[in-house]
Amino acid sequence: MKLKRSKKKQPTYPYTVFILGAGFSKDAGGLLIKDLLAQKADIPEDYQYIWDLYERAKKRGIVTDVESFMDYLSGLSFLELGWKIKRLKKRKSFVMASKIYSDTIIAVLNILERAIDKVSSAGLPNFYSLFADKFLRLLNGGSHPTNSIVTFNWDVVCEQMLLDGFKHLKYPSDQIKPYEDYVGFRKGINVFKLHGSSNWLYCEKCNTIYAFEQSLAHDPTKIASYRCPKPGCRKALARTIVPPTWEKTTYVNQLKALWKLAWNELREKAHQVIVLGYSFSDRDLLARYLIFTALAGNQNLKRVILVNGNSDDGESFLRGFLGDKVKNMRATFADFVSSYDIKNLP
Ligand SMILES: [Zn+2]
Repeated sequence: MKLKRSKKKQPTYPYTVFILGAGFSKDAGGLLIKDLLAQKADIPEDYQYIWDLYERAKKRGIVTDVESFMDYLSGLSFLELGWKIKRLKKRKSFVMASKIYSDTIIAVLNILERAIDKVSSAGLPNFYSLFADKFLRLLNGGSHPTNSIVTFNWDVVCEQMLLDGFKHLKYPSDQIKPYEDYVGFRKGINVFKLHGSSNWLYCEKCNTIYAFEQSLAHDPTKIASYRCPKPGCRKALARTIVPPTWEKTTYVNQLKALWKLAWNELREKAHQVIVLGYSFSDRDLLARYLIFTALAGNQNLKRVILVNGNSDDGESFLRGFLGDKVKNMRATFADFVSSYDIKNLP
C-alpha cells in the first residue's frame, strides 16, 4: 500500500516512443519518396540514362516511384536490363544490371543529399517548437531522459528542433561518437536514426560513426577530406545514408547495433507509440519487420497513435497485430500539435 501511495505523488507519463517518417520533416522542406527523381536535371550527367529508364517504366505503368523502380530493377535479369539500356543509350554493348542498380543508388543518394540541404536551415515552422514544448519537455524534464525518438529520416529537422528547444540530444549507441566531442550530443532525448543521417560519417575500419553538429549535405566536396580522428586509423570517412531500396540489408549492416537498440526500445520500454508522418510502406520491409516483431511482443504497450494526415497509412498493418490499440487521428502533424499535448491525448 505504501508503495502505491508514493507512486501516485509522482506525475507519471507513459514511456513514449515517437516514430518519425518523411511526413514529419515535410513542413520544414523535407523530401518525400514520391518526389525523388522528379526532374532529369536533378541527376548527375553520368546517371541520366537512369532517368530515361525510370520515365519509360512509369509511362508503362510498371512503376510509380523510386522505391518501386528499385524493385523493378532488382527483379529484372541482368540480360533484360542490359538490353534495355543498350537500346536507350544506343550503345554497342550492354551495361551490367548490377552496375545500373548501383548507379541508381548513387543517383538517388546524390539527389537526396542535395534535397536534404534544402531542408530549411533558416528556422523551423512554429509547431516544431510547440511539439517540443507540449510533448517532449514534460517527458524529458530531468537529466535522465525516459523517452525516445525512432526516425527514418536522413535530414536533421529533428535534431534542429531538439537543439533549439533543449540544447541537447543523444544518439544512443556506443558506435556513434560526436565529432570533435560536440557537447550538444552528450545528453538529452535519445534519437535512433535507423536510415542514417546527413550529419553522420562512417569509419569502416573502426566501425564508428561520427556525428557532426550539422548536416554535411551542403558541402559534399568537403566530405572527402574528413578522416577518422582516432589516432592510428585516419581512414577516409564515408556517408551513412540508407537509400530507399527494398534491399537495405547491406546498408543497414553498418547500423545493426542501433537497430537492435531501437528494437529493444519498442519491445521492452514503450507504453505508447506516437507515429508522426511515417507511412509504413510495403517496401520498407526491414522497418516493418522491426516494428512488427517489437510491438507484437510488447506486453506493456497500451496504444499506438497514428498522425499521418487524413490517410490510412499503417492502420491496417498495425491493427493486424495490435487490434484496438491503434488509434488513427486523421490529423496533420501541425493540427495534432495544436490540439493536444502529452497530458491530454484522446
Ligand atoms: Zn577509424
